[in-house]
Amino acid sequence: MFKLNSVLMLGMLAAMNPVQAEEHRELGAHEHGHGTLNIAIEGNAINMELDIPGADIVGFEHDAETAEQKAMLDRAKAALARPLELFVLPTTAACSVSEVKVDVRGEHDEHDAAAKQSGKTENHAAEAHHNEFHATYALACKAPAEVTSIGFDFFKQFKNAQELDVNVVTGKAQSKFEVTRDKPVISLKGL
Ligand SMILES: [Zn+2]
Repeated sequence: MFKLNSVLMLGMLAAMNPVQAEEHRELGAHEHGHGTLNIAIEGNAINMELDIPGADIVGFEHDAETAEQKAMLDRAKAALARPLELFVLPTTAACSVSEVKVDVRGEHDEHDAAAKQSGKTENHAAEAHHNEFHATYALACKAPAEVTSIGFDFFKQFKNAQELDVNVVTGKAQSKFEVTRDKPVISLKGL
């Protein structure tokens, strides 16, 4: 019995390894529904960097081809260019936007290779590209100490977005938050 189990185990391990390697590769690529937001607060300045799959923002990740897709892309870029409507800061902090950059980046190779190998038929594999949006924001706040919370209206504007991994760095501390559509707010009290 013990022997049989060992043989089975070995067989299972051998069968599992390629799968694990594949999943590992996919972790390096983006995951639909999930984005990241890095926030650095220093003095009066708040800098943010957002990376988010095109699937979450416009619902497709190939280059825009039709007039409709181009219009969707333009609307999305315009929405992403208004960070204070996406990431809501207390009004008492008196923050204003000093600089915004929004662009679309291609993210192919690894992601597609992994999807192809695993034979996945979901839109992941069907998409020729995995474009993602990249945005950087520079804000200036008159009362940065009042930035005690951030509300993520982001999820109201982008229906396919499910989760953001948020990293906040201040002069004193560093914190990670998983912000979801169900709980779209974080508290920065004590940071
Ligand atoms: Zn993708």
